[in-house]
Amino acid sequence: DMSGPFGWLAGGGEMGERTRAFDWAGTSLGPLAEWPQSLRTAVSIMLGCQYPLLIWWGPQLIHFYNDAYRPVLGARHPAALGRPAPEVWAEAWPLVGPQADAVMTEGRSHWNDELLIVMTRNGYPEEVFMTFSYGPIVDDDGRVGGVFCACTEETPRVLGRRRLGTLRALADHAYQATTAQEACAIAAVELAKNASDSPFALLYLLDADGRTARLAGETGLTPGGRANPGRIELSDPDAPWPFAAVATGGRPLDATGLADRVGPLPGGPWPEPTQQAVVLPMVKPGQSRLAGFFVAGVSPRLPLDDSYRSYLGLVAGQAATAVANAVAYEEERRRAEALIEIDRAKTTFFSNVSHEFRTPLTLMLGPLEEILEGQDVDAALRAKLSLVQRNGNRLFRLVNTLLDFSRVEAGRMQATYEPVDLALVTADLASSFRSACEGAGLTLVIDCPPLPRAVHVDVALWEKIVLNVVSNAFKFTLAGGIEVEVRDAGDRAVVEVRDTGIGIAADELPRIFERFYRVEAARGRSHEGSGIGLALVRELVVLQGGTIGVESAVGRGTVFRISLPYGSSHLPADQITGARPSARSDAAVRPFVDEASRWLTHVPLTHGGRDDFALASSPAPDDAAGPLTHGDRRSVLIVDDNADMRDYLRRLLEPRYEVRSEADGAAALVAIDRSPPDLVLADVMMPGLDGFGLLAALRSGRKSFDLPVILLSARAGEEAQVEGLDAGATDYLVK
Ligand code: ADP
Repeated sequence: DMSGPFGWLAGGGEMGERTRAFDWAGTSLGPLAEWPQSLRTAVSIMLGCQYPLLIWWGPQLIHFYNDAYRPVLGARHPAALGRPAPEVWAEAWPLVGPQADAVMTEGRSHWNDELLIVMTRNGYPEEVFMTFSYGPIVDDDGRVGGVFCACTEETPRVLGRRRLGTLRALADHAYQATTAQEACAIAAVELAKNASDSPFALLYLLDADGRTARLAGETGLTPGGRANPGRIELSDPDAPWPFAAVATGGRPLDATGLADRVGPLPGGPWPEPTQQAVVLPMVKPGQSRLAGFFVAGVSPRLPLDDSYRSYLGLVAGQAATAVANAVAYEEERRRAEALIEIDRAKTTFFSNVSHEFRTPLTLMLGPLEEILEGQDVDAALRAKLSLVQRNGNRLFRLVNTLLDFSRVEAGRMQATYEPVDLALVTADLASSFRSACEGAGLTLVIDCPPLPRAVHVDVALWEKIVLNVVSNAFKFTLAGGIEVEVRDAGDRAVVEVRDTGIGIAADELPRIFERFYRVEAARGRSHEGSGIGLALVRELVVLQGGTIGVESAVGRGTVFRISLPYGSSHLPADQITGARPSARSDAAVRPFVDEASRWLTHVPLTHGGRDDFALASSPAPDDAAGPLTHGDRRSVLIVDDNADMRDYLRRLLEPRYEVRSEADGAAALVAIDRSPPDLVLADVMMPGLDGFGLLAALRSGRKSFDLPVILLSARAGEEAQVEGLDAGATDYLVK
């Protein structure tokens, strides 16, 4: 009823009720009827408002408040009504008292944003954050009669922000961990930065057998105390924490009365000890595997409410995620290390095997050379032994390349760098291909004017580089020529090997320096090759501080460009010597040149008068033009790109047949068209038109559709045979 004598004090909910019922006569304000109008108005506004408000009135600052303000007072409600504010807020008065005084004496208002006020409103000192304003209420005689205060409690917001910060820091930092231990240690460091929410924290990792938990991160406790032993057996009944129960239940458990169980534990930033902890399972969200346990001390100045619990749950999940990531990382690294180990083992294997191959090969080739140097060998035997020698040499070279390669890979290649006249050395090496080029009808241009300075190289390695690149140029150039150029480029020398060969497709180009990489179906002089040459070349160039690049256009040619810096500062000092007398080993050059020569189809070359690979037993040129002189002998046409293989087959068959040979399918087609043999014996793998191509062309030809063709291949196995017969071959033989 607002019309009665106390109508101004109607309504106001519980606090209206209490204000009306209060015995004001016993206070300095006197009975309600005597209150000044200003106080009545202020109190009625306050009570009618749903925003938390309070009024302190008179010199004693007598306390009024409305319903919305009750939670701020906690247990002090309702006793706070009508009492002097300095008594109600005894513990906070040092902080807020001066502000109230300033309002009363000077009429000055105050604003406080999220001010931390330690309030003992619920029986213990509590961390509370308030945003509030004190303003003056002018009384009936124009003086300041009291303080009007509007306030909001910001505690949930401030705590939420603080906890979010910790969770974010955990996510940011713990994920750098590379081991589970490290993940826990980093989590502990981040939790230490927010001791207000974690006066202490322990992170235990569970062993794989699930029986023992080991301390991996801790903060807030003196190491080695009763509460934080290095390891805890889950089965131990005296364990400080209920890990076994948490593991079984899979949910957090509270641990209370800590002072009695493990002695008084520090309260973080607060003087009071921590009485309570929560023991949480560390489980990555969405997974079931228990990584360990998170023991979280609960602040003595905060209620353990839902938001506190859910924060601790998120910390445990975050820590478990970091642990899981670290474990995954560890496994990843172990896998990578295993792969490196396998690779190392492979390199060692190559190196050992190559070594093992070298010895017997040397022991075979040495005596062979002696025999061939002797005079008492007849021509037929000499031809056979030469075949053995050439192939032995080839094997020897492959083995050496493999050995070099594995040495470089294992970092065991011992290079010795000396200043050399690179132009001279390179020109010399390139010129050893002169006769092979002439034989193939290729031009060889060597453009190597003297360089202004010496270049430091390991001569033996440089030889391998040049010989490999030039012999590739020879192998893949069927017409035109090869140019080898050395030029000065300021701080470095540049060596270019250019050819007008088949070129390399753009998509293959980046891969040709990979070990064992070969371009499929490249049309070269030979199919021979292991794909290791360029891989070795690149390793050797890099070893000598240089770089190698390649440019190519299919059908137009290829350029390999090697640059080597002048001077020696880029090389290890202990591997540098002065200039040595030049000792170019013929041994390094010969295998390359011999091999290149043998790729020539038509023009047999002799080398030094000794290596008479010019088919000693077949004086007639391979493709004697004109019709075959049949007589009563049948004729066989051998088609194979390997000169030795041709030679070998020829020797086998010649006693009984008229034998001709060609080096690839296209040449064979021309020869067959001119004069068909009785049988074609064709290799499957050949540059240009291969065995299958030849077969297809013959089968579709009018004259040759029924010509007997036997395919020869090194590919053993059923599949290849069926393939061979399906294509229309008369028969199929494995070499
Ligand atoms: P390979 O033993 O097969 O010659 P390399 O490592 O020396 O192995 O060369 C790798 C591949 O690069 C060769 O199989 C060939 O296809 C290609 N290649 C190398 N040099 C040339 C070149 N001058 N012209 C065209 N192709 C080339």
